[in-house]
Amino acid sequence: MMAKSTVAELSRPLDEIGALPKSIEKPDVRKSMLSVITPIYGEEDSIDLLLADLLPVLRNLGQDFEIIAVNDGSRDSSLQVLRSASARIPELRVIDFRRNYGQTAAIMAGIDYAVGDVLITIDADLQNDPEDIPALLDKLNEGYDVVSGWREDRKDKAIRRKLVSRIANRLISSISGVRLKDYGCTLKAYRRDVLQGIRLYGEMHRFIPIYASWMGARTTEISVRHHARQYGRSKYGLNRIAKVVLDLMVVKFLDRHFVKPIYVFGGFGLFSLVVSVLSGLTVFYLKFVHDISMISTPLPLLTALTFLVGFMSLLMGLLAEMLVRTYFESQGRAAYFVREMINFPEQK
Ligand code: UDP
Ligand code: MG
Repeated sequence: MMAKSTVAELSRPLDEIGALPKSIEKPDVRKSMLSVITPIYGEEDSIDLLLADLLPVLRNLGQDFEIIAVNDGSRDSSLQVLRSASARIPELRVIDFRRNYGQTAAIMAGIDYAVGDVLITIDADLQNDPEDIPALLDKLNEGYDVVSGWREDRKDKAIRRKLVSRIANRLISSISGVRLKDYGCTLKAYRRDVLQGIRLYGEMHRFIPIYASWMGARTTEISVRHHARQYGRSKYGLNRIAKVVLDLMVVKFLDRHFVKPIYVFGGFGLFSLVVSVLSGLTVFYLKFVHDISMISTPLPLLTALTFLVGFMSLLMGLLAEMLVRTYFESQGRAAYFVREMINFPEQK
């Protein structure tokens, strides 16, 4: 999360971002254990169909797998359906939340409890197609760490969903510098190690590829199938857009400035103080050179306001610095992530 990446670096094509030298050997994902994570909120009619689609695909791969279904406080019979399915299917693991915490929290829990080396997230509502999983894995095996699905032919309401999401995707793409066409698609595959230390809140599951890329992951996108929702309804309305935009600001801020918040707050504070001084000087200049009364312009007000705001920002910056120290030092966290250590004595 804290990987330093300059703007110039991020505006290069996706493949090159934080790219590892291609020669670095990565484990064959076709031999790794897979964890398929699916968030479930009120999908009682879809679960059995999803499992019926998913299981043959996973069994055909001939590798170890688990399916982690996270029941996100469903109010229908989803839990019962999952419970009886888990009696039949030993690979199905179910996490039952006490209440509805949202899709991001459900995915986060799945990541926390998954034991696979490769993680795949998929919606439970049958809108994603499990048949696309082998293609995702093949792409990972080309040396990528994150492969994201792109719903090229998206089957959702045209204007309300597709147009808005196109604009949102453009925005996220340009702000984050990680160029994907479709962040919102849940069907994605990751190599476990790029999710090290990741913590997701709010609507942030769609930003996992961004975090991962900032941490040096090679990220790419492939076209996947998309189906119209058969059962139940979408759990989201238009207010998701505002949440996504706000979350994007948080992500951007955390990546760049989490370790040094004083640069943001202090930077703004200093700017504000400079404006204050300039406007104060102008007041005196107007008074003594042009004999214009101090209170005939709004400048004194501007001087006072910018002075206050600037000063407060500096103080908030200091406060934020204290918070950052509490965060890192109380939890024994480091402000960096290590990819590999060579010739060190046995590490835990
Ligand atoms: N979901 C969830 N918790 C929520 C909302 C949704 O676990 O609070 C799950 C839902 O069951 C589905 C997936 O997240 O498997 C995507 O939700 P939905 O289909 O409503 O989103 P859309 O496809 O409309 O973007
Ligand atoms: Mg859906």
